[in-house]
Amino acid sequence: MKVYKAYCFDLDGTVYRGGTAIPEAVTFIQQLQRQGIEPFLVTNNAKYTQAQQRQKVAAMGLDIAEDHIMTSAIATAKYIRTHYPESTVKVIGQDGLVEAVRQEGLTVVEKEPNIVVQGLSASISYEDIEDVCYDIQNGALHIATNGDLKLPKEHGFAPGNGSFVKLVQGVTGIEPLMIGKPEGHMLEIIRTQYHFEKEEMLMIGDNYDTDILAGIHYGIDTLHVDTGVTRQEDVKKMDLQPTYYVKTLQDVDCL
Ligand SMILES: [Mg+2]
Repeated sequence: MKVYKAYCFDLDGTVYRGGTAIPEAVTFIQQLQRQGIEPFLVTNNAKYTQAQQRQKVAAMGLDIAEDHIMTSAIATAKYIRTHYPESTVKVIGQDGLVEAVRQEGLTVVEKEPNIVVQGLSASISYEDIEDVCYDIQNGALHIATNGDLKLPKEHGFAPGNGSFVKLVQGVTGIEPLMIGKPEGHMLEIIRTQYHFEKEEMLMIGDNYDTDILAGIHYGIDTLHVDTGVTRQEDVKKMDLQPTYYVKTLQDVDCL
C-alpha cells in the first residue's frame, strides 16, 4: 500500500466498538505515530467535544491531538460561519455541537432562528421537535450534523440523528443540508487547514455508505476495514470500490 500523509480514521467500528478498543487499529495508529505521522479522527458523532473525544481514545491507549479530531459538529459550525456568518442559530444537540457553534462565534438563539442545526440529543422532547418544525416552516434553514439513521449498540440498533432529522423533514417537506459523511465537508476542512493534496489523503472506515462513499465522493483513496457495519463480501458487490479492503488493520502492510 502507498504511504499517505493524512490517515483519516472513522471511530466506531474502525478504532473501537462502543467502549472497547479494536486492538489492531490501536496498534496500527501507534505504528503510524512512531513513523512521525499523526492520524486524524473523522467522526459523524457530534455528541462529544474534541476534549471529550480525546479522553475517550486516551483510555484506549491512543494519544491524539485535539486539533486532529474532526467531528460533524465542528464541520457544521465551520460551514455555518463560512456561508452564513450573520445568521442566528438554534441548536438541537449535546456538548460537542453546542461548544462547536460557540467556538465559531455564532449567535445562538432560542426563538426565530435563521438556521436550525440538528444533532443527536438524548434529551430531545416532542416540544423541541414541534418548535423546530415551526422554525423551518417559518423559513429557517435546516442543517443536520449527519444523517446516520441508526447506531450499533450492545442490544441492537438505536435511533441515530438521521432518524430524528427524517421525522422533522417528514413534517416540513424540506430536505435538510447534511454535513457529516458521506459528504466530504470534514475531509475538506482537514485538507485546507493542513494543506494536503487529495493524493496524500486516505479515508479508513467500516461503513461503506458513509466512510467509503465520503472518500470516493471527495476524491481521495479509501480503505475499508471489516470490523464494523458493512461486511467485506457486501463491499465487493458495490459499483464503486474502495481503493483497498482488509479484514483488520493488522493486514495493512505499508509500514
Ligand atoms: Mg464506523
